[in-house]
Amino acid sequence: MENGIIMNASWTTEIRKAWINPNAGQSHDPHNEEFLDVIWEISQTAFDIPREVQVVIDSKDELYMDFGTPGFVDFDNVPVGMVLPIKCWIHTHPFGAAYFSGTDWRTIRTWQSLMTEAIVIGDNEHMVWQKDEQHTVFYRKELVEDFYQLNLNAFGLELKDSQTKLTGWEEE
Ligand SMILES: [Zn+2]
Repeated sequence: MENGIIMNASWTTEIRKAWINPNAGQSHDPHNEEFLDVIWEISQTAFDIPREVQVVIDSKDELYMDFGTPGFVDFDNVPVGMVLPIKCWIHTHPFGAAYFSGTDWRTIRTWQSLMTEAIVIGDNEHMVWQKDEQHTVFYRKELVEDFYQLNLNAFGLELKDSQTKLTGWEEE
């Protein structure tokens, strides 16, 4: 790795910590919001500039991580040790919009026989592709005003169901 690109040398450790639930010692569901949030934060802050981060979860729940330019992470090579099929391919769009690009669709088509799920993460939103589903699903986090959030926090409450689920985002 070139010097000066990685600002946070423990970025893979932080993503692994978020993946392994410290209470149960078990792996999270790939949809776990905290897990996706950590990947997004790493993508925004761990490098010299916001960079695309890719996390591949294999069939044994092992993580394979990489980062690239803001636009693209090469997915041509299967990392050594990865056990197919891929459970989930996760990557970020550091510019903020969570949708599968043309390149992403090519990757999905190439891998769909050996991949169960793909998630693209943007700013407070993510999109999910699942094998054998006709539609991708788009999730956006609704931000509540700080005032209300502060009051909720004062009572030790958390907002649940803070996500809007939109269906109907079809493959182009
Ligand atoms: Zn993409």
